[in-house]
Amino acid sequence: MVTAIGGPRILLRQLRETMAEPLASQERLDKIVDLIAENMRADVCSFYVLRDDGALELFATHGLKRDAVHLTTLRLGEGLVGLIAAEAEPLSLQNAPEHPAFAYRPETGEDPFFSFLGVPVLRAGQTLGVLVVQNQDRRIYGEDETEALLTTATILAEMISTADFDALITPGSDIDLRRPRVFEGVGFSEGIALGQAVLHDPRVVVTNFVADDTEAEKERLNEALKKMRVSIDDMFNSGDMQIPSDHREILESYRMFAHDRGWARRLEEAIDSGLTAEAAVERVQNDTRARMLRQTDPYLRDRLHDLDDLANRLLRILTGDGGDSGKDLPDNAILVARNMGPAELLEYDRTKLRGVVLEEGAATAHVAIVARSVGLVAVGQADSIVSMCENGDDIIVDGFTGQVHVRPSPDLEATYIDKVRLSAKRRAHYAALRDKPAITLDGEPITLLHNSGLLADMDALKETGADGVGLFRTELQFMIASKMPRIKDQVELYGEAIRLVDGKPIVFRLLDIGGDKVVPYMRSMAEENPAMGWRSLRLALDRPGLLRTQVRALLQAADGGPLNMLVPMVTETVEFLKVKRVVEREGARMAKLGMALPDPLKIGAMIEVPSVLFELDELLPESDFVSIGSNDLIQFLTAADRANPRVARSYDPIARPRLRALKQIVDAAARHGKPITMCGELAGRPIEALALLSIGMTRLSMGASSIGPIKEMILGLDLKALKADMEAFLTHGDRAVTVREFLMDVAERQKLSL
Ligand code: PEP
Ligand code: MG
Repeated sequence: MVTAIGGPRILLRQLRETMAEPLASQERLDKIVDLIAENMRADVCSFYVLRDDGALELFATHGLKRDAVHLTTLRLGEGLVGLIAAEAEPLSLQNAPEHPAFAYRPETGEDPFFSFLGVPVLRAGQTLGVLVVQNQDRRIYGEDETEALLTTATILAEMISTADFDALITPGSDIDLRRPRVFEGVGFSEGIALGQAVLHDPRVVVTNFVADDTEAEKERLNEALKKMRVSIDDMFNSGDMQIPSDHREILESYRMFAHDRGWARRLEEAIDSGLTAEAAVERVQNDTRARMLRQTDPYLRDRLHDLDDLANRLLRILTGDGGDSGKDLPDNAILVARNMGPAELLEYDRTKLRGVVLEEGAATAHVAIVARSVGLVAVGQADSIVSMCENGDDIIVDGFTGQVHVRPSPDLEATYIDKVRLSAKRRAHYAALRDKPAITLDGEPITLLHNSGLLADMDALKETGADGVGLFRTELQFMIASKMPRIKDQVELYGEAIRLVDGKPIVFRLLDIGGDKVVPYMRSMAEENPAMGWRSLRLALDRPGLLRTQVRALLQAADGGPLNMLVPMVTETVEFLKVKRVVEREGARMAKLGMALPDPLKIGAMIEVPSVLFELDELLPESDFVSIGSNDLIQFLTAADRANPRVARSYDPIARPRLRALKQIVDAAARHGKPITMCGELAGRPIEALALLSIGMTRLSMGASSIGPIKEMILGLDLKALKADMEAFLTHGDRAVTVREFLMDVAERQKLSL
């Protein structure tokens, strides 16, 4: 067996020549196994390919019986070859038949061979097959031999992914790397998008594998490593004081990996075996990715992701390639990323984006909120999609089911095109309702408003014909910024939002940050229960500078016109009064400076903390209007985390106790003659909206896509009958019937479109 360093390099050069020869695929493979066997002085060299059905098929052999080629198969996990493929780890044995996993295949004639060395053939972390050498004598293969075989496997992997193996494939199986793939993720934003994949951080494609001058390659590697470390140190030092402690920890471990000697040594060893610097990075990265795919511990997985990221940086430096993050977007781009921040998402040309797919993330993640608010279909937790997808791949994102189809079959694509057509038809139908006022059959006008938060989502107002913006979540601007927005930026944003509503009302909610709405540049402490922690109004009152600046910006942005401010998370009246005092003081300051004050200026309270239900008669006289935040109110009334689907779904938000609470608020507002709006998610769902209408609510604020369906339902509704039925139901209705069941029945009787 070869132990000298020169061996593998000669082999690599021979392999390169073989790749350039005009040979048929099988012939080429046969030649390759012969070359490997000869070069490594092995009695046997065999190559097994992992088929799509999970079987490992013997594709070529030197030393085993030729008749077994394309006949012998092993399942993933079966036998030594199956074990190597399943674990993506090399295996070296002195006496193979003694290993408990050994599976005897008589047709191969492998009886006389005892020593065994097998390595996985990996590409982008995927196992493509297994490469094996065997010898008759019971010898121990050295580390350099394993290394040499791994290097050969890297070249082989590249060949498989570029060569045409179709003719060799046993009918019914498929080794096509570009085969269709389905990823089961979680829908973050509803809808269906068909388009072409654009990798946010594209993988660098290595084309030059075999080195001519190993020393020169090592030098290139060391230069690149140096460059990469400097750039990471710069990144770390630049934001020093602003990086919150948890981010610091992540960056610190990232930096540690960049300086990791073990990693650098593995890279050098790969070069020693004859690879170029970039091919060495790719080889080590393949191994990391394979380990990552098998890792279930989220902490370790993250660390492996770090290594993967670093390898990509290094590859980019070495090849000067791959820095383009999709500047030239196709017209129907679907972004694919491990994860990204909301600001990164907004940097892309929105007119060309259709959807976004992430390997990580949660529905409440900022990037998901932003994706929703700019109307992108979004799916998260699509495990490993980045390494199995390439720029330009056809891709379908189903935000309803959370499925992502990469390189879909024509049939599947046709089915989805039908679905999209159907929903386009529905949208066209709703668009036709745009100029129709939302008046019930019995003549009651209902006000329909948008929930919004970015200028990017304000255009939708023109399409839906809604009456205005019932909730503008000002914190989104803070969440997507890389540093605290200055007063000038805030005035500009609010002023532009006022201009875009074009005379219709808009309600600006004061900052609702903290909890899960993390602002990256503000130091935050880990909290046991962030939803009930230092967030929203509490944070604003503790940080009066922040509140004052925002109030000042809003007062200025109104430019003497009307202004509506909404105070979130009011827990008791005294807090609301404190905010009013800040507004008064800022108003007085403006008057002194001779600036025009908003006219009229209205300040409302959000009702979303149960405590305030017991103080409505104190709060309402102080409030110009109120708005119910059902998302928080229901989570606190039921003690069920709104972001945790396991518990959030257990409690129907319109069940009797919750509906009674809502009715209490509506009745109190009526008693005090104050306008009341629902701006939580409830308003946008037909049955829930029906429940709200039945208890006397007439102002509903929701996501733009819900306006059409809700308006259609309203147009066919006999509201008087509904209210009378609901009153009777709540006082002496059958206790075994739920509010929802009752409303479904009403909807059927009134033939409402839901
Ligand atoms: C709510 O809680 O219902 C609400 C509208 O506010 P947010 O969802 O932003 O907390
Ligand atoms: Mg809320």
